[in-house]
Amino acid sequence: MEDTPLHRDGNWPAGPLSQILSVEPTQAWWRCPTCSMAGTLAQLHVYGPEPGLTARCPGCARVALRPVKEADHIWLALRGSAGAFRFRTA
Ligand SMILES: [Zn+2]
Repeated sequence: MEDTPLHRDGNWPAGPLSQILSVEPTQAWWRCPTCSMAGTLAQLHVYGPEPGLTARCPGCARVALRPVKEADHIWLALRGSAGAFRFRTA
């Protein structure tokens, strides 16, 4: 599909994503869309076991993110089962 005035290809968010993915993540701010609790990534409640972890809101247990580590990749789902991004790590 070619670019149209209504949308751009997936390379467009690479610039801002490369900036946020290279900084310390534990102090990233997060706000729950269900109960409105706000805090840092480090304050989420995380459940295992590895390699798949689920980080949930401490107020209402809504899933905030799910990182899954594989040998050469990390999958990252930002909401429940609504899809995931796979990042190459090796
Ligand atoms: Zn919540």
